[in-house]
Amino acid sequence: MVQTMEQILSKTKFSDPSSDKKPLIISGPCSAETEEQVLATALALQKTGKVDVLRAGIWKPRTRPGSFEGIGTKGLAWLQKAREITGLPLAVEVATAKQVEDALHFGVDILWVGARTTVNPFSVQEVADALRGVDTTVLIKNPINPDLELWIGAVERIQKAGINKVGLIHRGFSSYGNTQYRNAPMWHLAIELKRRMPELPMICDPSHISGRRDILQEVSQEAIDLDYDGLMLETHVDPDNAWSDAKQQVTPEKLAELLDGITWRR
Ligand code: PEP
Ligand code: MN
Repeated sequence: MVQTMEQILSKTKFSDPSSDKKPLIISGPCSAETEEQVLATALALQKTGKVDVLRAGIWKPRTRPGSFEGIGTKGLAWLQKAREITGLPLAVEVATAKQVEDALHFGVDILWVGARTTVNPFSVQEVADALRGVDTTVLIKNPINPDLELWIGAVERIQKAGINKVGLIHRGFSSYGNTQYRNAPMWHLAIELKRRMPELPMICDPSHISGRRDILQEVSQEAIDLDYDGLMLETHVDPDNAWSDAKQQVTPEKLAELLDGITWRR
């Protein structure tokens, strides 16, 4: 039986942040690459029985030109097929009005605003305007720079467009030079936002914080210890050969091990 998005979310802390329900688990590849890769990843994730929502990037905002910039709209048909086969609802990043329109056309259940979009009020407003009158769930990643007002401003723009199912994704903040993280978590900033907007669920994205596999477990545990309402973790059937973010992706089987290794309540 295919569950509705409402039913899936209502079983998790995402719909009820102060409850002791289970955290929402979103997983899938950084990028949709081929139909086979999308379907194989989705099936393997479904098999774990631990994933609530399938994610995949269709349009990729890459830092430098010349790298893979996403498969584009045709990948949405693969995701739709994955949803039909596995029953997993879909989450996709959107950055323009056309992307919102295309994602909604293919029945994407959750849209998220990426870190490189949250920094730009014009882009957030364009996404917000395209969402006016639509009943959907929107997740807003923190901006790449540690600026809480910018993050809050993006939330307000989406809410003012009439979207009331809004959540936050903490994916860390970039800084110049090497640190052990790809994007420093600066946990206190996310906690401060949670204090200011307590009604909004906060998900952690350990994949983009870590940038590497070996610290994914500890970053995920930290988020659960801090009572986050969910995790978004990138998975790929062949992580080493992923077309984007290869170093931080794990197989669906490794994801299951990681989740099994978490102490959910201390
Ligand atoms: C992603 O989720 O693959 C992504 C591009 O993330 P971020 O916006 O956090 O960099
Ligand atoms: Mn990624």
